Amino acid sequence: MTETNIPIASPVFGDEEAKEVVKVLKSGFIAQGSKVLEFEKQFAEFIGTDFAVATSSGTSALHVALLSCGISEGDEIITTPFSFVATGNSILFTGAKPVFVDINEDTYNINPDKIEDAITDKTKAIMPVHLYGQSAEMDEIMKIAKNNDLLVIEDAAQAHGAIYKNENSVFDGKKIGSIGELGCFSFYPTKNMTTGEGGIITTNNKEYADKAKMIRSHGEKERYKHSILGYNFRLTDISAAIGLVQLKILNEFNQKRIKNAEFLNKELANVKGIKTPKLNGNSRHVYHQYTIAVENRDEWIKFLNENGIGTGVHYPIAIYNQELYKNLGYNDNCPVTEQMTEKVISLPIHPKITENDLKIIVSKLKEASNLIG
Ligand SMILES: *Cc1c(COP(=O)(O)O)cnc(C)c1O
Repeated sequence: MTETNIPIASPVFGDEEAKEVVKVLKSGFIAQGSKVLEFEKQFAEFIGTDFAVATSSGTSALHVALLSCGISEGDEIITTPFSFVATGNSILFTGAKPVFVDINEDTYNINPDKIEDAITDKTKAIMPVHLYGQSAEMDEIMKIAKNNDLLVIEDAAQAHGAIYKNENSVFDGKKIGSIGELGCFSFYPTKNMTTGEGGIITTNNKEYADKAKMIRSHGEKERYKHSILGYNFRLTDISAAIGLVQLKILNEFNQKRIKNAEFLNKELANVKGIKTPKLNGNSRHVYHQYTIAVENRDEWIKFLNENGIGTGVHYPIAIYNQELYKNLGYNDNCPVTEQMTEKVISLPIHPKITENDLKIIVSKLKEASNLIG
């Protein structure tokens, strides 16, 4: 028997990505061009927005999205501290201040009940993160935004293809990334689909889309005419060619993740010491991560890793407790977030995981439960 080795993440490519990349290379046009345009068109169609603007990363998508709707120095943006640091940093890049609101302990997403207390006369927007691929509570968030004249910029970096469900809502059945004024996705290799590095902004607002296109390319409206300050945050046609193929297979990838998650949910439901993911109603969770919560996390991780099962911790530190934020004077206390930073473990869930892998994961977790749980 070969030794177990089940990595926490693994991008999946077929021959088609390679073929499309070679075509782009041979065409001699490799920077942002027709492939990026085609990718934007298809991604917008997939999410159900009028526009999509591709960028060099998920981080630059967030940064450009904030700038395109006018966020600037002195503004405050309400967001979650239980996310990848890019969520907070993209706000800092604009000179605005991230204001952190604690999470709901079942879904790990921002707790809408705590948002209103954080609103001041400087607040301009709410940036929910659809953590692990599960939608935040969009009805509550959109209502608070409407009542307080705030924008909603969705960090959908982990939620390609996730769907919000709430029978009584106008947002029922909408794809994540199409509910707020702007949505931002990442195509980093661990995400549900990849372009190597890359990102995209989705919106129904033409003004924001046009501004985003300018900001990603040195504020350029026409060749060599620069009217505002911008960056070089363009995606390449090489990346877009990969993205076009990945987008076609995304639904199949997501179905595989969901099937894997359902197996783990069922098999782990009654295992002592493990809290399995809780679903937000009937919404479609696309399981960018399958994350459980346990006590004595480090012992579980050690045991799993020694048995060839890869793990991740998303995330071990609240964003405001990162050294960068400490040095900026952040001194928040979000107790639910801090508890979860000590408890969460992400398990392998990606489309390459086999049924046998899943069985090994379950049996090792049961062993760990007997030893540690
Ligand atoms: C991955 C990720 C980002 C950043 O995307 P990059 O493509 O790595 O720049 C932002 N927010 C969240 C929640 C992410 O998971």
